[in-house]
Amino acid sequence: MDVIVLGGGLMGTASAYFLASRGARVTLIERNRVGAAATVASFGNIRRTGRHLSQLPLAHRSLRLWGEAEKMLGRDVEFRATGHIRLIFDEGGLADMRTYAEAAQPWGLELDELGPREIRARFPGLGPDAIAASFSPQDGSGNPRLIAPAFADAARKLSADIVEGADVETIRHTGSGFLVITSKGSFAAECLLNTAGAWGARIAARFGEEVPLDARGPQMGVTEPLPHRILPVVGIWTRDKDYGAYLRQVERGNIVFGGAAERVPVDLDPGHAAADPMRLPGQLRAVARLLPSIAQVAVIRTWSGCEGYVRDMLPVMGRSATTPGLFHAFGFSGHGFQLGPGVGDAMAELITTGRCETPLDDFRVDRFSRA
Ligand SMILES: Cc1cc2nc3c(=O)[nH]c(=O)nc-3n(C[C@H](O)[C@H](O)[C@H](O)COP(=O)(O)OP(=O)(O)OC[C@H]3O[C@@H](n4cnc5c(N)ncnc54)[C@H](O)[C@@H]3O)c2cc1C
Repeated sequence: MDVIVLGGGLMGTASAYFLASRGARVTLIERNRVGAAATVASFGNIRRTGRHLSQLPLAHRSLRLWGEAEKMLGRDVEFRATGHIRLIFDEGGLADMRTYAEAAQPWGLELDELGPREIRARFPGLGPDAIAASFSPQDGSGNPRLIAPAFADAARKLSADIVEGADVETIRHTGSGFLVITSKGSFAAECLLNTAGAWGARIAARFGEEVPLDARGPQMGVTEPLPHRILPVVGIWTRDKDYGAYLRQVERGNIVFGGAAERVPVDLDPGHAAADPMRLPGQLRAVARLLPSIAQVAVIRTWSGCEGYVRDMLPVMGRSATTPGLFHAFGFSGHGFQLGPGVGDAMAELITTGRCETPLDDFRVDRFSRA
């Protein structure tokens, strides 16, 4: 079976790898460099807590693969199962956490509830005013700069053709397959997988499939390096979006943070998302609630990235509803980094076998037109 994968972010490179592992002949077409769009901008959170429940089977599949990534890809992509703590500062946050934890349990996600004493003893310096927290010990983080190139290199070793810097001029359904004409040559295959991220809705629209998707940029920042003291990824349960911040400390010592700032609309042409320095003070106020000592530290860089947010905040995954042989996996709405390896594996299973053991029904491309 021949498959063209269009878009070389985490979803495209992971799909290319798992398709090639299943014996498909794969051509991945990326107009820039692999992993250089939303994927490289990611905060790197490998978190299941708070996900839409119907996404949890895919998130569990993905977490297993993150755990195997070093062996599978032959290099350390800095996946660390350090745990994920979400601090709680008020009764509303506590009620939301307990409701979610109870609902998520039958879906296989176990959250520990920590009291204030346990938080201080296990995580000194974090959230001195927190009244409680949820803790998910198996979650953690990975390095957004390393993962897509690692999948692309591993796919190449399995004979996948990774074509970078290729401007797509035409995509045509030929009846028996697809013809993609690019600045780097023409490619034909019986299947086409659309992993074009925030640009994915444009590709779907060429085949008569409308998806309500906005391109937006969440804002991130990073501090100077400090001694490595914070092990888990840290977030918050809150109804107040001005306080919805998160942070983690990388092993080299820098503290990466995000959240608590509006996501800025991004023009898909050219798709460059810019960080806004005016949003930084508000973000840091929210981060300081989680980690007061951040007030003493210099921020050395801010950035953003162009991500596709679907109206219902769920991705589009699965078969096209209009065109045989066409598949979609795009619009990961700000939480695709954790899902990436699972998405690649699930799409490869669907394309090569015609079925997928992970339920994907809630992510159907035609859910908006059917509604
Ligand atoms: C700032 C930021 C922080 C984030 N933090 C987290 C996090 O902590 N945890 C989490 O789970 N998720 C996070 N996310 C979301 C996550 O990074 C994305 O959901 C995920 O990386 C999407 O991967 P992708 O492969 O779908 O898209 P992308 O990485 O954007 O890749 C799409 C690729 O398609 C290419 N492309 C588009 N059109 C064409 C075309 N016509 N021809 C050829 N190539 C094309 C693009 O050049 C691009 O390389 C974050 C996102 C951002 C922006």
